[in-house]
Amino acid sequence: MTSAIAAFPLRLVDGCGLEPRYRDVLRPGATLVDHRGYARRLPRWFYEVHSWEQARDTYLAPHFAVSEFIHTDVRETPALRVFPRYVPCAITLLALALERLREEVGTYVYVGANGGYCSPLHSRIGGASPHCWGTAANIYRVGDTYLDNQDDIARYAIIAQQTLPTVWTRPLGPELAKTDDHLHLDLGYVISEPREAVGISNDVRLAGDPL
Ligand SMILES: [Zn+2]
Repeated sequence: MTSAIAAFPLRLVDGCGLEPRYRDVLRPGATLVDHRGYARRLPRWFYEVHSWEQARDTYLAPHFAVSEFIHTDVRETPALRVFPRYVPCAITLLALALERLREEVGTYVYVGANGGYCSPLHSRIGGASPHCWGTAANIYRVGDTYLDNQDDIARYAIIAQQTLPTVWTRPLGPELAKTDDHLHLDLGYVISEPREAVGISNDVRLAGDPL
């Protein structure tokens, strides 16, 4: 006997179609500049989370619920500190990456407050941070080990790099843009456009054979 698979519960939304108070902070499709001066386009498609209960009950990977990625405080802009909340669709890929890392280390992987998705207006965001793409995580603890020293951060950064070959981890150090109290890892400026998302062209001449 086969059991039915429940539909993914989060509503897919076009950020460009949201009310101005959300558009102004999510800035769908707008451009941010990274620390090297390169333009990076922000995501346009988001999942809508209507309550904390839904965030807690919606798993993106076996051990990572949506709630892991939306712990923010007063540093986040007010419109995104109440529900509904919005997360870029690529957050599902981050959850899979963290699940793979968790499998490798064989224990819990904890994402810190303000360490998952952050809007471009979050006070800690300066320019194009992959946190605004939903593809970055600040890990402050692995199992019983707190990543509050360079030795432990470096140890888990190496494991992350070996496990996720294209991952980027923030360099160690006390200076700005470095880290000495958590492990930052990210997948880069990944944009996820689910099949249900309406694309920008409906020109059938561009349609090829389905693969
Ligand atoms: Zn970070």
